[in-house]
Amino acid sequence: MKEKELDQLYESEYQEVKYVRELNEYWNAYMYALINEIYVGIGINLGLKPDQAYKLAKEKPGSLQKAGFFKSIFDRFKGIFSYKVPKFRYKKKLFGDGRSMTDKQWKNFNKYLSDYWSKNTEDVSEDIAIKSALLGAETTEYREKKKPYKNKSLFQVEYDQFDGDMPSNIKQAYSRYDFNNSQKNAMAKSLSNIGMYITQTNNTLQEAIRQQITIGIDNNKTPTEIASDLYWQVEKNPNLNNEYTAESLRKNWKRIADTEIASVYEASILAPYEEEAMESMKDPEKAQYFVRTGGSCDWCKPRQGTLVRLVPASIINDSKSESLSSMGIKDPNTDVAIWNGKNNIGLKREDWMIACPAHPYNTATFTPIDLKEEYYNPKTDSVQKRQKKKKFVPQMEDYQAKVRKEEESRKPTYVGTNLVRYNNNLYEGVSASDYDRKLKEYQNNPQLPIPVNKTSPSYDRIFGEAEKNK
Ligand SMILES: [Zn+2]
Repeated sequence: MKEKELDQLYESEYQEVKYVRELNEYWNAYMYALINEIYVGIGINLGLKPDQAYKLAKEKPGSLQKAGFFKSIFDRFKGIFSYKVPKFRYKKKLFGDGRSMTDKQWKNFNKYLSDYWSKNTEDVSEDIAIKSALLGAETTEYREKKKPYKNKSLFQVEYDQFDGDMPSNIKQAYSRYDFNNSQKNAMAKSLSNIGMYITQTNNTLQEAIRQQITIGIDNNKTPTEIASDLYWQVEKNPNLNNEYTAESLRKNWKRIADTEIASVYEASILAPYEEEAMESMKDPEKAQYFVRTGGSCDWCKPRQGTLVRLVPASIINDSKSESLSSMGIKDPNTDVAIWNGKNNIGLKREDWMIACPAHPYNTATFTPIDLKEEYYNPKTDSVQKRQKKKKFVPQMEDYQAKVRKEEESRKPTYVGTNLVRYNNNLYEGVSASDYDRKLKEYQNNPQLPIPVNKTSPSYDRIFGEAEKNK
């Protein structure tokens, strides 16, 4: 898909949930501010005075954010994030007597840039990924309790739900919360994707700066002109390959950030339902249904209200097929399966499946639906309670039973042939000769059950215990 088409899609999608929107907003602003600072630092290195360089960054053709814009965002989120944007000041001259630098000199500069970039992007990105995952889990809870949540701010969630101390890295999150396998996988996958994008952006920055300076010198441009080209060349010649300007770097980052936040957030929304979905393979009464809501582009609109059923990711053989019947599951309500991690990466638009996100910038979500009690209202694009004639009698919650149920789910329990669920993880007993192969498969795809060698002591421990609980 062309970048222009993607932007059109994006422009019509709007994230309804305020705290997710704000998370996006902060991350984008912070990354923009870093890119901005790097380009300002280059301008200064090329001979501009600092105020000239910042002014150049501010005098936007197009939609460059003003420096004040960053400040207002950072102020707004200062109770939650305290990441700084340090000055980018490379000491050696990139452009001295009009001659370009040698390869070795560029190498030194690239190292300085890489260090600055990774030092300042890694922590914040991990923080955002973890918060996205936790916010997905919060959303599930809000929906279950029918609390209004769409207008809650990130600040409110942080202070109301996390006592002002929401985890900011994976270590803290793991030590405080019990994640199941699919949530852990979603976070790990997200972190590795983000790591890759950070590296790609770093490479683009290096190429951009070197190319623009070299071309500038070849064309006898002044340092101001070169600095200006770095920002704005896209405006002067729209047909030019423009991936190297500050503007396009920012746009590119926004697409990455929005999509990545949506993926990990959505994975955490689905994760708590996976256990029931697993059990529904044996007991169809437990089937977990969702409807696809939100997403306002041409592709999403006609798909609002699509009823889908969650299946365990471990049963998916063909990740390009979403038909329940092709998986051997007969469901009277729908034939569309969803699973955690389902996506349309590498598929043409005409082959896109019902996923969230289904496309870059997508803000659609899966809303759980209890078919007996609820229905989908297309007018409001939301799930609502069915009207009952009967008088409403509030149900007493049996906490004892709830606690027992939770304890039960932690014990090793058989959920299929050679399959045991234990502590919210899924284990598969495999023969010693298959073990290495299975382990490799699992390492490549952590959605699969964790293989356990039948001759190992842990097999006796997990599967032996499960045998007793049969
Ligand atoms: Zn859409």
